[in-house]
Amino acid sequence: MSLRSASDIVPAMSGDQAIRALLDWYVLAGVDRAMDDVPRDRYREAATAKAAPAAVAREPAPVAAPPSAPAPAVAAPQETAPAPPPAPLLPPGDATWSAHEIAAACTSLDQLVAAVRAFDGCALKRTATNTVIGDGNPAARLMIVGEAPGAEEDRQGLPFVGPAGRLLDRMLASIGLDRSAVYITNMLPWRPPGNRSPTAEELAICQPFLERQIELTAPRILVLVGGIAAKALLNRREGITRLRGQWFPFSTPRLEGTIEATATFHPAYLLRTPSAKREVWRDLLAVEDRMKDGEAER
Ligand code: URA
Repeated sequence: MSLRSASDIVPAMSGDQAIRALLDWYVLAGVDRAMDDVPRDRYREAATAKAAPAAVAREPAPVAAPPSAPAPAVAAPQETAPAPPPAPLLPPGDATWSAHEIAAACTSLDQLVAAVRAFDGCALKRTATNTVIGDGNPAARLMIVGEAPGAEEDRQGLPFVGPAGRLLDRMLASIGLDRSAVYITNMLPWRPPGNRSPTAEELAICQPFLERQIELTAPRILVLVGGIAAKALLNRREGITRLRGQWFPFSTPRLEGTIEATATFHPAYLLRTPSAKREVWRDLLAVEDRMKDGEAER
């Protein structure tokens, strides 16, 4: 199969959506600068180099000419000559791109859950006991995103059921919520061994699944607990101390409109630093207010 555009890779997306998804993928993978001042059409360069005789091929490639313009120094390729296959946009077999493709093809949460369970592109799965995807009410207006399952979550296959989870339940109760009124998930569905921090690569591989989970459940408010979730989903470099307590519009190429997102300290941090509970209490009250505002609007 030859790939001519980003939307060939994700047929369910329009060209613009596929390009935005591709750029998002580059950012997630850590690409933060372009190598040249102007874009280079490497497909065209490759085609020109192949068609040119060796002596002419050393001339600079006429990158500025439109694809249909005759190239004066180089004989036009024969109509019948087979077109060189364009290079794929991403390396075949790249785990993050497969996750993008697989997630994009899921049209229900059940399909997504099955797809994540079947996905073998993240090495964390090999050391984990369970795939931990979500708990609570997928139809809830509030979604909470943490970092990754810990030991207890890995054993039970449910997010936030260990000590940090019990504190999260108490935090929710303080604003009148329980798990029937929220949907809880993590950046990663598999526990990093020894509870180490997730690597950038693990986060990039798994993020397309989480984004699809958000798209399919379409919460009204997202609460990101901890710096890992806040930085990754808000695409920011600041730490949680700076990000918490603010509101950000969250969007993906496939979401209609935006979701209001905020960040706060992770309950595991609160277990170690109880003095930070004061800030979290303020953040929770702000969430409660936003939820009430939403009710008034309906
Ligand atoms: N910490 C998290 O971020 N998520 C869990 O599910 C448990 C602990």
